[in-house]
Amino acid sequence: MTLTTPQWIEATQAVDAAATILIVTHVKPDGDAIGSLMALTHILRERGKLVTPAVDDGVPEHLRYVPGTEGVISKLKGGKWDLMISVDASDEARTGIAGVYGRKRCPKVINLDHHPTNTMFGDLFIVVPDAVSSTEIVYDWMLHMGQSLAQPTAVALLTGLITDTRGLRTSNVKSRTLEIAQRLIEAGASLTEVVEKALDNTSYRTIQLWKRGLATVDMANGVIEATITQADLQEVGAVEATDYGLVSLLSGVNEALVAIVYKEQPGNKVELSIRCKPGFDVGSVAFALGGGGHKQASGATIDGPLDEAKARVRPLLEEAVKQGTLTIV
Ligand code: 5GP
Ligand code: MN
Repeated sequence: MTLTTPQWIEATQAVDAAATILIVTHVKPDGDAIGSLMALTHILRERGKLVTPAVDDGVPEHLRYVPGTEGVISKLKGGKWDLMISVDASDEARTGIAGVYGRKRCPKVINLDHHPTNTMFGDLFIVVPDAVSSTEIVYDWMLHMGQSLAQPTAVALLTGLITDTRGLRTSNVKSRTLEIAQRLIEAGASLTEVVEKALDNTSYRTIQLWKRGLATVDMANGVIEATITQADLQEVGAVEATDYGLVSLLSGVNEALVAIVYKEQPGNKVELSIRCKPGFDVGSVAFALGGGGHKQASGATIDGPLDEAKARVRPLLEEAVKQGTLTIV
């Protein structure tokens, strides 16, 4: 993996040479995935392009307030595009069926992302690990392209900025992040709406799931962990395959340096959600396990069963604790 300087000019030239553009993002999309997908869709439509936004399984219900999400395609059929742009996905597998399908039907791929673990798939790169969210990169690209900021775009951009920083609270937030947030609010995005709809949307079902997960909590050598099994999911009822923030709750525990939630998945797989305090790095742990993410928030899906997965992951997390030093930022 070698990160290149962002290819703003080349990427803009590729956009201008294209009439039809497919935009994809990562599976199980979060606020930054949908925010980047929709913001770029609006910006490129304003630039006169025919844009198709797509993501496997569509847009999660709590993110459907983002303008234009009703037009997102969940299953691509037929079609050919002049260009594909992948946003917020650190590797090709993360772009799901839509990404793999699109790549076969687009002669050129732009990879726009902020994960330091990006595998640099595609042809042109706008990969900026310092960006707090992929929407921050989309915002900068909008400025480079000379496009103006419309209200629907501002809502989409603020969604990614707020969700990936857990409400402007992560250690990578800079004064410029707040300046951008201010511009987006001035352009008509509501901070309250984004916070209420995209961040504070815990359902009673989710709390039932946390109740089961919290009953399994254990902490050793600076690592706090919890487990959610398929049986828990079945008892609680259909819940989307995410921990809905349980891992964030655990990473806030004073005595813990690293937090992990193990989520049993069908097909003998285990999904990992990992977090750590500033000064530690769990991004490289997830990358070593075939996943990816950021220093302080990462994830991967590995082979089960649960016990074997834990036996494999725990030593890596304990090593991450040893390698780091708690940083007060
Ligand atoms: P979460 O725990 O919220 O699902 O994910 C935290 C971070 O890790 C996000 O930045 C997400 O993109 C990344 N991540 C989670 N799962 C995977 C995965 O399976 N592969 C990769 N490459 N990144 C992941
Ligand atoms: Mn992101």
